[in-house]
Amino acid sequence: MKSRVDALAARGVRPGLAAVLAGNDPASRVYVRNKARSCEQTGLHSETHEFPEDVSEAALLERVAQLNADPRVHGILVQLPLPRHLDAAPVLAAVSPAKDVDGFHAMNLGALLQGRPGFVPGTPAGVMRLLEHAGVALAGRNATIVGRSTIVGKPLALLLLQKDATVTICHSKTKNLAAVTRQADVLIAAAGRAKLITAGMVKAGACVIDVGINRLADGKLAGDVEFESVSAVAGSITPVPGGVGPMTIAMLIVNTVRAAELSIA
Ligand code: NAP
Repeated sequence: MKSRVDALAARGVRPGLAAVLAGNDPASRVYVRNKARSCEQTGLHSETHEFPEDVSEAALLERVAQLNADPRVHGILVQLPLPRHLDAAPVLAAVSPAKDVDGFHAMNLGALLQGRPGFVPGTPAGVMRLLEHAGVALAGRNATIVGRSTIVGKPLALLLLQKDATVTICHSKTKNLAAVTRQADVLIAAAGRAKLITAGMVKAGACVIDVGINRLADGKLAGDVEFESVSAVAGSITPVPGGVGPMTIAMLIVNTVRAAELSIA
């Protein structure tokens, strides 16, 4: 992104990302810190707006409104999850769609559904970029996603459909998960269940993308895929940590730079 950041600098614009962080969730703090560090490494301006665990919805809405109006800020991310007493929906809806670099606003998710331009959420966009970079064929092939969340599974299904894959979405009520996943040429695990996908659930030579980030009892991070055994069967596989996680941040930066470009277009 550096060349695009330099081109913006020549026009007097420095892309800016504002993170809204409410409460004390340790993982959220790490994610926001990593995002800020990546912004700085790429030459973006970054700022973090911290709020205590007992913050009110009104206080968050007021800050989002200020950030919507701030010309130094091109992208706004509201780090999820919000504290338990808050509903994320009104806060996400308050972010200007033009600054919604997480792609969670209904306008941007709707654009994705309709195949129109908009901001695509970072994790599914990052998965697509990995597949493209690795030259994984999608047209006419079976792509199976385990997980149907609004931030990963559902948008990813739409992106894979756009590339002409035959898409299957599995979830916690799916019967005989292994029989379904064994049909996949491209298998994407996004369930948030450590080591859910074992070697017997994977077709020989399949491309396996592991979105899951799970904290084990011993403090170590694990994906949704049992990496050791599945690597022996899969044609290609992404690790955790690594793999999709850094791509999510990279795509957030892509979206923020694009938001800055669009702001002066
Ligand atoms: P989520 O909202 O909890 O959704 C999990 C999905 O997995 C749900 O659709 C759930 O089904 C399904 N599921 C759960 N257990 C299952 C099982 N045993 N069999 C089949 N399906 C099952 O989670 P999320 O936010 O999408 O995140 C998923 C994982 O990705 C988490 O580990 C998260 O930490 C990670 N993540 C990583 C990144 C990254 O940057 N790498 C970004 C976002 C999330 P139901 O709908 O039926 O409940």
